[in-house]
Parts: sequence; C-alpha cells; structure tokens
Amino acid sequence: MPAPIIHKSAKLDNVCYDIRGPVLDKARAMEEDGHKIIKLNIGNLAVFGLEPPDEIVQDMIRNLPQAAGYTDSKGLFAPRKSIVHYCQEKRIAGVTVEDVYLGNGASELIAMSMNALLNPGDEILVPAPDYPLWTASISLSGGTPVHYLCDEQSDWNPDLADIERKITPRTKGIVIINPNNPTGALYPDAVLLQIVDIARRHGLIVFADEIYDKVLYDGNVHTSIASLADDVPFITFNGLSKNYRSCGYRAGWMIVSGDKRRISDYIEGLNMLASMRLCANTPGQLAIQTALGGYQSIDDLVAPSGRLCRQRDLAHKLLTEIPGVTCVKPKAALYMFPRLDPEIYPIADDQQFAYELLAEEKVLIVQGTGFNYPTPDHFRLVYLPHENDLADAVGRIARFLANFRKR
Ligand code: PLP
Repeated sequence: MPAPIIHKSAKLDNVCYDIRGPVLDKARAMEEDGHKIIKLNIGNLAVFGLEPPDEIVQDMIRNLPQAAGYTDSKGLFAPRKSIVHYCQEKRIAGVTVEDVYLGNGASELIAMSMNALLNPGDEILVPAPDYPLWTASISLSGGTPVHYLCDEQSDWNPDLADIERKITPRTKGIVIINPNNPTGALYPDAVLLQIVDIARRHGLIVFADEIYDKVLYDGNVHTSIASLADDVPFITFNGLSKNYRSCGYRAGWMIVSGDKRRISDYIEGLNMLASMRLCANTPGQLAIQTALGGYQSIDDLVAPSGRLCRQRDLAHKLLTEIPGVTCVKPKAALYMFPRLDPEIYPIADDQQFAYELLAEEKVLIVQGTGFNYPTPDHFRLVYLPHENDLADAVGRIARFLANFRKR
C-alpha cells in the first residue's frame, strides 16, 4: 500500500499572506524563463539601492565574532536600554528594560503577541486594508480577525463608528498600523485619542504597529499612540527594517506600556513564548544600539529633495493621470493604494488582474484583497525603484489599463 498523503495543518485553513503568494510564484517562474520583472510588490529597501547606514554595517561586522552565543530571551541589555530611551523621546511613559522584547523582526513578535493572547472565538479588531501578517497571525493563533474599515474619503483614517459597531464581548484588542501599510496614512492625534477612548471604555489592549514611524513626508510628525494614556494597555512594535533600511538584519522590538497590571497574566504568556524561541538573532540585536544612538535614520531620503519623497511624488502624479485611477497621496511609509473606478474597470477578481498585469506588462503589484480589503478595486504599489524605473512601470500599468478598457 502506498504511504498516505500528508496534509498541512487545519490551523492554516484561514491563513493567507498574499504579499508572498501565488502571483509572486508566477513572477519567479517568469524570471526563470528569462523575463525581467519590475517588482513593485515588497518594501525591501536594500534591494533598490537604499542600503543601511554604513555605521550600522561596520558595527555588525565588528560585533560578529562576539555574537555567536544565545542571549537573554528578551534580548541584550544595551539595545533594550536604547529602546527605553527611544520611548522617552516618543513620550511613552513608564517603560523599563523589562518591558522591551527583541525579536527576529517585528514579524516574530506580532505572531507571538497574538499566540500568547488568543483562545478560539476571541476577536481582534484589525484595519481593512491591513498589513496581512496581522490577520494571518490572529487566525493562526485560533482567534478571529474582525476587520474595521479605514475610510478612503477621509485620508484612509480609521472609521471610528465602524470600530464601535464591531466590538463584542469577545473583543480583546485593536490593531492600529500607523504610519500605515498599505495606504501611507498617518493618523492625526485626534483620531488616536478617540481610539484610546474606545479601548479604555471597552477594556481592550491596543496593538500599535509603528514600524514606519520615521518614514514621514512633508514635515509630518508621528505620535505614538502609547504616549497618549497610561490607563490602557499598549503593545508597540517597531524595528530597524524600514527606518534603518535593514530588513535582512531581522531586528525588531515590542514594548509593553500603559496599564501593565491588568495584563500581568498575558505578560507571563509573552515571557513564556519569548523563552521558547530562546532569543532573537544576536548580530541583529547588536545593530539596534548603533542605529538608535546616532544620526543615521531615513531623514535625508524623505526630505522634499530626498529620493523617497521624489519617487512618491512621481508615482502619485503618474498614477492619478491615468483615467479612472484615484489615489490618496501618502503622508508616510513606502506604499500607495490606488483605486480603480469599478465603472471603468469592472474587475471581478483582483488576483487575476494582478496575474494579467504581470503576464502582459511584467509588472508585479499586490492586489488589494491581499490586504483584506473587501472589494476588488484597489492594488498596492511600492515606490522604491528609481524615478526612471518607476516611470517605466507606471507607464506599463497605464498601457495595461488602456487595453483593459477596450475589452
Ligand atoms: N509591520 C508592517 C506594517 C510592515 O509593513 C512590515 C513589513 O513590511 C512588518 C511589520 C514586518 O517588519 P519586520 O521586518 O520587522 O519583521
């Protein structure tokens, strides 16, 4: 008798991560066949020549011989202390080294934060569109993601009435991604204060993903939601990947602040999971102190004459010149989330749309439903390529859409 087929776990039934999903597999196959693909699908800065600051690279090299051992599960003292200082700069009160956890990127800690919290049936409010790791992590942990809408008509800010409507006795927390991936939104303090108020009234934990908090255009300033109250529990996520262009160093962190007493049992769960994965990679931990200690962030790139700001402006201008395409101009982060007017582009399946764009024009984007957006009329574009390449890519999208209209 042949050996039985072995299936993946049923835990994965509702887990989806389309940023690295089937359209990317197709792009890889095309590359193997010799096609050159323009990749506007992932916020991986270093591969677009946006490399980490030299001081970080040099310190990594210097520290490598001493970085072969495990560390404390939460991480080394010095980088955690530098994160405590970062919290002080951002006015997140009452954070000690014990409240800081280092991880292999924020991703590991996001998954850990959900795993330590959720029982079957527990609900977490997540934005739509979201960075899909959040929805995937909630589902994998056995919880239920409940999506609240962000409102395109209102600069993609969270729809507070929708949040209130979706709270049930099973709601344990609310995720906010600010600055936002995929919309590029940056939430005003008034909105953040109202979210804090909702969390306070309903006894929720606020999970704040702030990994783009230095990628700000037009002189915008970022407020950490955890700086706005001390009577609500906050878990804040950040790391070196974006602000310091070091995605591959896998250096991220998580900060517990606010009303820690009410969540002491949950904190025990976080400590347990942190111990089980032993520690974050030690070379990545050692990069954190260098990064946070000096002037080497992304400021020059996001200034009006800086490369990222120019690329944002160009991509936005060219996209919104295409008939039937509208797009809220990003205030922050590395992405835009344009809308395709359904009257002009009646798209039934936006993954199919992404496949066709790839096949016809060799441009790789991610379909909006990949970010748990409810309707198939958006896509996410990463504006990391140089201006010439971006202009070429958006030109191809325009040609594809012109042909689409003629169908
Ligand atoms: N959070 C958001 C909103 C992101 O966009 C990303 C990566 O793109 C992450 C978290 C993951 O970051 P890390 O590289 O630290 O795992």
